[in-house]
Amino acid sequence: MDKIKKLLHDNISVDVIENDKKAKKSKPDQQQELIDILKCKNDRCIISVERGLKQICILKDKEKAVYRCKYCEAEV
Ligand SMILES: [Zn+2]
Repeated sequence: MDKIKKLLHDNISVDVIENDKKAKKSKPDQQQELIDILKCKNDRCIISVERGLKQICILKDKEKAVYRCKYCEAEV
């Protein structure tokens, strides 16, 4: 019984994550700015040096849903 419950729970979690990803990629009206949602991958970026900064990402390519870090312009 517990095993079935766990399986159900796992499947539900996966579905939620999948839907979340799809929603972010295919949203027709994308946000120009994402705050604290995506994270800059550049380890020399000010965001990883300065504490307490908000991670702000700016939409650069609406078609491809490309966001860039506001501070170092790295793709996120
Ligand atoms: Zn950055």
